[in-house]
Amino acid sequence: MQQERRLFLLLQKCRSLRKLYKIHALIILNGFSQKSSLLHKLLSCCITHGELAHASLAFEQSVNPSTTVWNQIIRGFSKSKTPHQAILLYSRFIRTQSGDFDDRRPNGFTYSFLLNACSNPFLLREGLQFHCGILVRGFLSSVYVQTNLINMYAIYSSDHIHLNGIGSARKVFDNISHKNVAAWNSMLVAYVRWSVDTVNAMRLFDRMPERDVFSWTTVIAACARSGRSKQAVVLFQRMYCAGVTADQVTMVSVLSACADLGDFELGRRIHSWVMNNNNSSRRHRQLVSLDNALINMYVKCGAIDEAYSIFQNMAERSVVSWTTMITGLVVHGQAKRAMEIFQQMQQSRESPDETTFIGVLCACNLMRRPDEGLNYFNYMTKTYNIKPTVRHFSCIVDMLSKAGRIDEAVQIIEADMLPIQPNEAVWSCLLSGCRIHGDFHTASLAGRRLLELEQQQEGLEIGGQLAQLSNLYIGFGAWDEGLQLRRRMVESGMRKLGGRSWIVVHGVVHEFMAGDQNKKRFDNAAVYDMVREIVDRAKTAGYKSKTSEVMLDVEEEERELFLLLHSEKLAMAFGLISFSDKTTPIRIVTNLRVCSDCHSFAEFISRSFNREIIIRERNRFHHFHGTTCRTCNCK
Ligand SMILES: [Zn+2]
Ligand SMILES: [Zn+2]
Repeated sequence: MQQERRLFLLLQKCRSLRKLYKIHALIILNGFSQKSSLLHKLLSCCITHGELAHASLAFEQSVNPSTTVWNQIIRGFSKSKTPHQAILLYSRFIRTQSGDFDDRRPNGFTYSFLLNACSNPFLLREGLQFHCGILVRGFLSSVYVQTNLINMYAIYSSDHIHLNGIGSARKVFDNISHKNVAAWNSMLVAYVRWSVDTVNAMRLFDRMPERDVFSWTTVIAACARSGRSKQAVVLFQRMYCAGVTADQVTMVSVLSACADLGDFELGRRIHSWVMNNNNSSRRHRQLVSLDNALINMYVKCGAIDEAYSIFQNMAERSVVSWTTMITGLVVHGQAKRAMEIFQQMQQSRESPDETTFIGVLCACNLMRRPDEGLNYFNYMTKTYNIKPTVRHFSCIVDMLSKAGRIDEAVQIIEADMLPIQPNEAVWSCLLSGCRIHGDFHTASLAGRRLLELEQQQEGLEIGGQLAQLSNLYIGFGAWDEGLQLRRRMVESGMRKLGGRSWIVVHGVVHEFMAGDQNKKRFDNAAVYDMVREIVDRAKTAGYKSKTSEVMLDVEEEERELFLLLHSEKLAMAFGLISFSDKTTPIRIVTNLRVCSDCHSFAEFISRSFNREIIIRERNRFHHFHGTTCRTCNCK
């Protein structure tokens, strides 16, 4: 008895496979290979160590195994790549069950594991049969079984061909008399998986009597993933107030929301949480994805040096870490450093993927080295066997046309090499190259294609490109075409509207729309006055507003007004008012490209107010620190 107990304890403490094999040998030598408690523990250890084959071997050598032993082996296969084996084992179990002894018959746990196995689209029929079996055998009252039923149904959408997955899951959920937090969480995950919006999930979440870290993380992640970053941050604050301690997975989602919003303050607070957490507990290894999320957050908040220092100190890096760092450096205008990191990556054991190469091509583009870019493009397809996507082709077209090799760019587009029809990104790249090099003929080809695409795809926003084209027409003296294009843009309402910029001040996102003149809001009146004041100061210093940026048929004075109301300017003025401390950088995020007038405006503020200003657009940053923009060659 003592020996049996000793072996059990050894199994409990076992941390390596080698030891596990030794203990198994001891069990056999001592004649305990049929002892149910030891066998059960042995199987569970094998499964934890991913040694299903060994578990199977031990199981097959047992004579008339007990239900707990059967359950272990069924559990092992239910989580494996061959879940149907679990079902085959169950039929053997049923056939061999002997007499009326309860310890030789399937119980609630057996069915829970089987339902787990059936959480696979190709085991739908079996899953439905088990649901019936559970009803007949009276195991439906177990909340554990019910929760697994929810999980099983939740892998099918509400309009699945054979059943309404979400509806069935909900029915099971509603019938649970004493719902525990695990049951609520399963239903929550079901909603998050299948709804594009988070409405149903939020409604359920609000009704939950008790929420654990998993519940909170599920809804925060759902919001962050679906672009509801503000809501994600608010939920995180609520979670904190509710006294629930966040874990690393929660933080990955919150950081992604911070990155999206450009919320540097919160991002930095989470960073110090991560550091403290790391120092206080050595129990949990830090997730690589958490470091990646930190790098991404710092990149998106315009703090590239902080991002780099995290990257440098990582104990372990994934392909995402390398890629985030490379593309991060590129959007901050540091192409050379990006290429150095890429060289380091090739010496590491991580292989670059298609996104890494987007970063590499953009770096070559930024350095104006099209031939190097083309070499990397070939290297990617030949050495790494990566199929180029339309994004890779946009980079190549952009690179060639900016270098004035417009014919080559056109050849690539027309040679049918692209995986899909050339989209608006490809044509826009060609168009802007033509604008730089004054290629009127190709520009009009690109323009025509863009207009065709606009007709085919509703809601395609190409106002900016058409503005470029009409300027080009007029520049070449083709007045009729140019003016016709402008009229079209005005008629279809394609103005440079929809411009949105925001700034985060003490955890609150302040958003400004282009032309936001809502003087009812006290803040806005002050903001508007501030913009005026800056412009007046700038004018005396010799600054001239660039009214050619305004694409409307209006008088000069009105054009000036339009420029004043660009959302970037409003956000910058608000930043100046809100951060009286001069050392705090003003960080703005904008959804469109910054126009050259706003660019000079930012430059002027930075110089005359001695402030650091960082503006994030979709694919690049502008960084002013008392000087001209240091991250882009803005023309
Ligand atoms: Zn502007
Ligand atoms: Zn710039």
